[in-house]
Amino acid sequence: MEVRCPSCLRRERRDAEGVTVLTEGGQRQPPEPRFVAEWEAVKAALADEQGFAGPCAACGMPMVGAPGGSWTIQLPSGSLTIADGQFTGPQGVVDLATAEAMVEAARPSPSLALRVFQTGLFAWLVVPLILWVCAFMCFSAFLCIGVPQGAEFMPRS
Ligand SMILES: [Zn+2]
Repeated sequence: MEVRCPSCLRRERRDAEGVTVLTEGGQRQPPEPRFVAEWEAVKAALADEQGFAGPCAACGMPMVGAPGGSWTIQLPSGSLTIADGQFTGPQGVVDLATAEAMVEAARPSPSLALRVFQTGLFAWLVVPLILWVCAFMCFSAFLCIGVPQGAEFMPRS
């Protein structure tokens, strides 16, 4: 049975002889906050119908590829356990939408600096578009006005 870490790409073969590390991994650490990264990994594993094989030895994210297994995400509001495609929150079994809402509610809102940066970045991406539109208008004015009437402005020999 081969299990892998979707976060740092560590690969292990687990059989009767024990654990054989196929790819060391660990170069890539999950982004903060960690529970959001874990939730994304859990959702991807469920979509691929893969089970969980415990934490990754290199980065601590859930390793996938084993049949069955469970994973517990520590949220600020309590723990969310995923086992056999079922989500169990602090108040009992919840569905996917509720589990998603729990993670989203715990996700910190972006800082002011990040929002200013993203808005500024978007503004800068619009500048080339405006330049392109202006250049197109100049060129079409040249084609529609300059070319038909251009002969009158040419010096006669
Ligand atoms: Zn890992």
